[in-house]
Amino acid sequence: MRTIDLRSDTVTQPTEAMREAMLRAPVGDDVYGEDPTVNALQDRLAADLGFAAALFVPTGTQSNLLALMGHCERGDEYIVGADAHTYRFEGGGAAVLGSIQPQPIPQAADGTLPLDKVEAAIKPVDPHFARSKLLALENTWHGRALPFGYMAAARELATRRHLGLHLDGARLYNAATAYGRPARDVAAGFDSVSVCLSKGLGAPVGSVLLGSAELIERARRWRKVAGGGWRQAGMLAAAAMHALDHHVGRLADDHARASRLAEALGAIDGLTLQGCHTNMVFVDVPAARLKDLAKHTAAKGIRLSIGYLPSIRLVTHLDIDDEGIDRTIDAFKTFAY
Ligand SMILES: *Cc1c(COP(=O)(O)O)cnc(C)c1O
Repeated sequence: MRTIDLRSDTVTQPTEAMREAMLRAPVGDDVYGEDPTVNALQDRLAADLGFAAALFVPTGTQSNLLALMGHCERGDEYIVGADAHTYRFEGGGAAVLGSIQPQPIPQAADGTLPLDKVEAAIKPVDPHFARSKLLALENTWHGRALPFGYMAAARELATRRHLGLHLDGARLYNAATAYGRPARDVAAGFDSVSVCLSKGLGAPVGSVLLGSAELIERARRWRKVAGGGWRQAGMLAAAAMHALDHHVGRLADDHARASRLAEALGAIDGLTLQGCHTNMVFVDVPAARLKDLAKHTAAKGIRLSIGYLPSIRLVTHLDIDDEGIDRTIDAFKTFAY
């Protein structure tokens, strides 16, 4: 029985064509800046997304960390969503490794940080306070594409109050797909953007940080300090390049499958649909039935993310086809809630 893994879009396997591209990639020592495939990936994404420079790194966590350390110094702070990845899910790296204080702000239901709350959190220039330096947003957030106009309002605030503006765009291309706009428009106005190639785009490894030449030089230095200076990384960059060539257009299929899944699950008595955004579906079951449901779906070869709030998250991706969606719907239908 084939396993249907809906835990995350990070679980994808490199396709045969992607593996071929990796095998053929010309490579060099990237610490010397001599890997042609890494350089081509960085140049391409910088040009595509409208930035002066880019840096290929192993993970989105490292990319965000390098951005925070590139924007902020010891004793500075960044303003961030209380449920944002860069605050909650990165091991406190900015504080641990960068001596940068987070100032979390509870997100509104649509994923935005209310800008009046952001502005109120900016500290006066006074030795009592950390220096407010950066506003960090996330798009998509829990699958939600932020309201498009919000980004311009955040840019206006950042400019007026002299904050840098960073975007954790781990799923930037999902947001672009949801808006029906080029990814460049989603990245517009930010001083730095982090993009993951290893989520729905299906590369095995890799994120890219984009920004000004100066910011990326600082990030490159911090990447080395963090042990992230890699050598013939072109094989991984080739996978990322292949993902950009072949897997961006198909994100719409993931979104359509998520919608179909959400519609079917929402019609089942005992299940409460909490939301469906881009490639993510969230459902709740009565807490007392959660364990049994997990056992039931596992026995049918379905893997889910269980135990966060809402209680079940299902994520569509490159390795989930229509039959996988059908089997998942069937598994949920055959459970007694
Ligand atoms: C996955 C993800 C990251 C980075 O994760 P890594 O596993 O370190 O690559 C950052 N932000 C968001 C929103 C993510 O979903």
